[in-house]
Amino acid sequence: PELAGASASIEVGVRASTPDGLPLVGESRTAGVILAAGARRNGWLLAPLVADMVAAYLTGADPGEDAAAFDPRRFEG
Ligand SMILES: Cc1cc2nc3c(=O)[nH]c(=O)nc-3n(C[C@H](O)[C@H](O)[C@H](O)COP(=O)(O)OP(=O)(O)OC[C@H]3O[C@@H](n4cnc5c(N)ncnc54)[C@H](O)[C@@H]3O)c2cc1C
Repeated sequence: PELAGASASIEVGVRASTPDGLPLVGESRTAGVILAAGARRNGWLLAPLVADMVAAYLTGADPGEDAAAFDPRRFEG
């Protein structure tokens, strides 16, 4: 009942994407927060690669040759 007069906005989305169509995998601008999102329609296909990259970031290993292309901070000026 407390929410009877409350307003809300609802957002729904599928196949979250990025401007260049590549996912966001790696360190975010917030220290210690690693992203693995925005795989659009290829999330199942990319899952093994993304999992390996996230594991590498977490353990300090080399994230591989796709690191720059998937860097979440690539859209920052
Ligand atoms: C119809 C369809 C067919 C597809 N077919 C294929 C295919 O054949 N091959 C392929 O590779 N990919 C396919 N995909 C894409 C694939 O499903 C996605 O790329 C993949 O699921 C993305 O995984 P994700 O973990 O990044 O995001 P998601 O699977 O979307 O997971 C995100 C999770 O975060 C939760 N969440 C969101 N906001 C919040 C919040 N504020 N608080 C708490 N939790 C939150 C959501 O409930 C969800 O559980 C298809 C997608 C669709 C819709």
